[in-house]
Amino acid sequence: MRRIMSVAMTVATVTIGSAAAQTTGSLSQQVREFIIIDGPVIALTDVRVIDGTGGPPREGQTIVIADGRIQQVGPSHSVDVPRGAQRLTLGGHTVIPGIVGMHNHTFYTTTGRSAQLSFSAPRLYLASGVTTIRTTGSSSPYAELNLKRDIDRGRAPGPRMHITGPYLQGSSGAGGDMYHITGPEDARRVVAYWAEEGATWFKAYNQIGRAELGAAIEEAHSRGLKVTGHLCSVSFREAVALGIDNIEHGFFTNTDYDPDKPDDTCPMDFRDALMEVDLDGPEVQATFRDMVGSGVAMTSTLAVYELFVPGRPPIDERMIRALADGPRQEYLRTREQLDISGTTSISRIFRKAMDYERAFVNAGGLLAAGVDPTGNGGALPGFGDQRNYELLIEAGFAPEEVIQIMSANGAKILGVDDELGTIEVGKIADLVIIDGNPVSNPRDIRNVTIVFKDGLGYDSPRLIESVRGVVGVR
Ligand SMILES: [Zn+2]
Repeated sequence: MRRIMSVAMTVATVTIGSAAAQTTGSLSQQVREFIIIDGPVIALTDVRVIDGTGGPPREGQTIVIADGRIQQVGPSHSVDVPRGAQRLTLGGHTVIPGIVGMHNHTFYTTTGRSAQLSFSAPRLYLASGVTTIRTTGSSSPYAELNLKRDIDRGRAPGPRMHITGPYLQGSSGAGGDMYHITGPEDARRVVAYWAEEGATWFKAYNQIGRAELGAAIEEAHSRGLKVTGHLCSVSFREAVALGIDNIEHGFFTNTDYDPDKPDDTCPMDFRDALMEVDLDGPEVQATFRDMVGSGVAMTSTLAVYELFVPGRPPIDERMIRALADGPRQEYLRTREQLDISGTTSISRIFRKAMDYERAFVNAGGLLAAGVDPTGNGGALPGFGDQRNYELLIEAGFAPEEVIQIMSANGAKILGVDDELGTIEVGKIADLVIIDGNPVSNPRDIRNVTIVFKDGLGYDSPRLIESVRGVVGVR
């Protein structure tokens, strides 16, 4: 870390004000202050690469970035580094593709509050290596549309954003900032409105009915847009039959296995059904067959569900420093209560959900991941995405599979895999430099030093420092 940072600093002083200024010229000062590597040609040498294709990690690689794209990648001895390139010698480091966060809100909740984090969330995402996000249910759609515009125009640091409209909730459902749909025509109207405003995805919520969901999907598809859902009143198989594109959270929210579930109604508690279902049995295979057959992807959000499992997760000190006083106290208080009152059934369902995700992938399913920084507030933007890496390894995936889930698979679902998601020649240079080896030590995923977005290298620790003590408030 120390070594690379000093190299980076030298490079920055050399290049600022030179030809590289052309690429940063359109960026505001509040973006530029975080950029430490910027130049027409950059070479990352002698580094371990996990390229996002699912292929094994490769040692001793060199990546050449030119004009914001990956120009060459291969063993260091075979890559011809152009003269005049800025070199970063990265022994002991690992490079992965920019993470594509597929459940990455810009709002945040604890048990007692909800806040739109238009200032801190984009900084934490970028600092953690998340260079693309889908917001996956908006609490404040105009705040997100404005934030996206600011990032696209170089006025604020942050990831590329794919905007989701407001949550589409059933008329009897809960949720103070959600839209409560009164019928199929209303669903079409609301989707049409937010499509015009710039949403490219929609998210159905847990008490929507089949008629409303079907109408929302039809309207979205007629506009080339997509729909995902945090389901309950509609089961996974029912949603697949209606044409949904993606399903959030996996096992925890699937009511396919509750024999007593009334139509269009979210059962009060279907935990017993989840506890009893056999992951190798015909019911689960039927869900997977439908999803895989129709190309419906699933989003893993283990980091937010872990927050409800007693004794987990280990406290991330970075989170304690980043949070503002109020949210920090609230989170620590709920966490303490949970450890006293928590039940073992939750621990078992959590483990089963991990196995379910592996079984889905084994059945040919397309799995992506995202943090979902809600629940009791213990999973912060970016930090929680990194926690997902550790949890998917715990679930039994190989490190290279997890990187693929967190980058390439998300890019595929978003339809941007021609440009993003893997470390391949010709793609946009979104790259994450990690000090250490997340293959042998998953926790090293947290040691991000520099994040490249569009070939510009952002200083990760400086981005994190810039939001210290305000996360959860602004
Ligand atoms: Zn969510």
